[in-house]
Amino acid sequence: MDRKIVLLGPPGSGKGTQTERLCADLKLTKISTGDLLREAVRNNTPLGVKAKGFMDAGKLVPNELVVDLVKDKIQSVKGGVILDGFPRSLEQAEMLDKFSKVDLAIDIEVNENNLVRRLTLRRTCRSCNAVYHLEFNPPKHGGKCDKCGGELFQRTDDTEKTVRERLKVYKEQTLPLTAFYHRKGILRKVDGEGDIGVVYDRVLKAIGSK
Ligand code: AMP
Repeated sequence: MDRKIVLLGPPGSGKGTQTERLCADLKLTKISTGDLLREAVRNNTPLGVKAKGFMDAGKLVPNELVVDLVKDKIQSVKGGVILDGFPRSLEQAEMLDKFSKVDLAIDIEVNENNLVRRLTLRRTCRSCNAVYHLEFNPPKHGGKCDKCGGELFQRTDDTEKTVRERLKVYKEQTLPLTAFYHRKGILRKVDGEGDIGVVYDRVLKAIGSK
């Protein structure tokens, strides 16, 4: 499948979890701007140093730090791609249109009250970025990743105060993207409430793979 799919939805809607499954089953490549930025922060690169403050505050990192990162990555990948966390504003969507086509945008919808609970109990693998939830999708062996044995940690932006800011930023800057892709006729909405596997089936249907 040689398609470019954008996953939309608020923080905590399950974009990362669903992306992992889609990539494994459909042989797609994940491009997650959040993962790329966290890696830059971890490695203390000049980009990471500039991005960290914005990320810890729950704000969007400026376009000049993010767009080239995605552009380079997309251009280096052969085959289908899932974009997780990009674009995040109308401006980014318009920039993306200039260097890559988008075939489909999937919007995962989750009630706002559930999002805070999902994010504050989320744990992430330091090595492979796999995502767990202490209640709904707990790791089998305490603080270790089921897939690679890496250490699980709580992202610094998954605290309640930052989560509320991220949701505000989402509503103001990212939500308008659903109308943007709807107008292009490529938006599919998916109910993101419920079991991960049930949501995954809905996503597969939306993609046309089930
Ligand atoms: P995520 O892992 O997608 O929740 O992203 C974590 C944080 O990285 C966000 O709260 C932003 O600070 C930053 N970030 C990720 N993707 C973008 C983007 N497309 N544009 C600007 N900032 C981003």
